[in-house]
Amino acid sequence: MIFNVIVIGAGHSGIEAIFSSSKICNNVKIITSNIENLGLLSCNPSIGGIGKSHLIKEIEILGGIINDVSDYAKIHSKILNYKKGESVHSLRYQVDRILYKNFILKIFFLKKNIIIEQNDIVKIIRYKKYLIIYNKFKNFNLVKNLIICTGTFINSKIFIGKKIFLGGRYNEKNFSLTNYFNIINIFTSKLKTGTPPRIDINYIYHNNIEIQYSDYINNFSKSFNFNKNIKCFILYTNNKLNNYIKKNIKKSSLFLGKINSLGPRYCPSIEDKIYKFPKNNKHQIFLEPEGYYSREIYLNGLSTSLSYKIQKSIIKKIFNIKKSFIIRFGYNIQYDFVDPRCLNNSLNIKFINNIFLSGQINGTTGYEEAAAQGIISGINAARKSINLKMWKPKKWNSYIGILINDLIKKGVQEPYRIFTSKAKNKLFLRMDNVFFRLLNVSYYLGILSKMKFIYYNNIIFNIYKNIINIKKNKSFEFFYIFKVIIIITKYYGYIKKYVF
Ligand SMILES: Cc1cc2nc3c(=O)[nH]c(=O)nc-3n(C[C@H](O)[C@H](O)[C@H](O)COP(=O)(O)OP(=O)(O)OC[C@H]3O[C@@H](n4cnc5c(N)ncnc54)[C@H](O)[C@@H]3O)c2cc1C
Repeated sequence: MIFNVIVIGAGHSGIEAIFSSSKICNNVKIITSNIENLGLLSCNPSIGGIGKSHLIKEIEILGGIINDVSDYAKIHSKILNYKKGESVHSLRYQVDRILYKNFILKIFFLKKNIIIEQNDIVKIIRYKKYLIIYNKFKNFNLVKNLIICTGTFINSKIFIGKKIFLGGRYNEKNFSLTNYFNIINIFTSKLKTGTPPRIDINYIYHNNIEIQYSDYINNFSKSFNFNKNIKCFILYTNNKLNNYIKKNIKKSSLFLGKINSLGPRYCPSIEDKIYKFPKNNKHQIFLEPEGYYSREIYLNGLSTSLSYKIQKSIIKKIFNIKKSFIIRFGYNIQYDFVDPRCLNNSLNIKFINNIFLSGQINGTTGYEEAAAQGIISGINAARKSINLKMWKPKKWNSYIGILINDLIKKGVQEPYRIFTSKAKNKLFLRMDNVFFRLLNVSYYLGILSKMKFIYYNNIIFNIYKNIINIKKNKSFEFFYIFKVIIIITKYYGYIKKYVF
């Protein structure tokens, strides 16, 4: 059997890729090393934020699932930049890690035309216009278009103090597909990222702790509206702790010179912050619960590659958490990524156009960035396999377009993260006008169901109606002009599909 599309890796990118391609063609398959970890949030169980929530809204209109899954699993939500203009308003969720993962698995098993396989891909070979993908049992699959979404798993190493071991994430194996990329003359390099320790919630001392309540706000999509509210807390480092870290800074993998790559600029490790800002007496630490029934608390701001022993001592030096225990230790990870300048706007490799790359393998960081690329590679791989023209998202109509353009034109020197400041015309690229920007494209591409298309069109209709109501008394004929525009917008997809 020759598959139309095969996706390697069921992380945030792979999931969106397989879902979008399964809407366009059949014979699609996803191969991942561990089904239990499908859609696992590698680090912070938080979705959205500045720029990232814009991506999620765009993914929603393109028929993606990250919006629904995070609405379902949400336990705490915040609206960011509320006092600023609409174009930079953003939503940020704290989600339940287990609910999130389970919901994705549930959607997967309901989708009948997706074939799922748990396996490790070890080799890729080109055969005529097809690709042969070998798994570790030396069995192979033949495919027309391949999407590689292997995230942080290529040649990755984990660092905790002096200890270094191989792994794609803690307790997961890594893969060495870099050899294949080198054979086909694609440049690879190294980046790093890190995660903080998680402590036991039961031993936290709540006196004088700053509480962060959830905002009662809308969801990304309207599917679930539970308005859940689990409290988060804020703490600060103190002089005693800062001095302790300063004293032991040389014991961190970063300062031992074991890591020789750059990490995300906006989430530096605690030792990095103390080194770079020695005059800062206190650094913020957000205590974020990992779920409803979880005892784990994520210490946002305390990411570190210091040894086990030092991590334990750090916890003992912060008053409110000094009696708590570390459930998971923090670590740093260094991995290979592919220079994204070898890609087209449609995310396929320029000179081997049936291999698509998306997600952290392209040098980005973040679940949303990975999901956004996944949806584009999924659409294009599927369209290419049934001989349709590929879609190239534009900079002027979406943040997804900005993300892809930045990657393929500028490349990456450090893990790429989207921000609203990256948009030149950010007044136009808002979360609330995403229907106007992408609805018809999405319907035309065949990734939005008729029901959703009608649902979103009704929203557009109501927006127009409200405008009309304001102006109603002035000029009644405006209503009819707008109605004609709505009808054209509504049937634009049909017209383009069947007339042109
Ligand atoms: C320690 C750490 C901390 C992070 N911190 C943050 C953070 O705070 N905030 C944030 O937004 N992002 C963070 N990230 C990044 C975030 O996890 C990624 O950007 C995102 O998960 C990337 O999604 P992806 O789909 O590209 O890959 P991943 O989610 O990494 O998924 C890759 C999948 O591919 C599978 N796979 C890989 N190779 C093979 C193979 N050869 N055969 C079969 N299956 C394979 C793996 O099993 C895995 O399921 C962190 C990542 C790590 C590892």
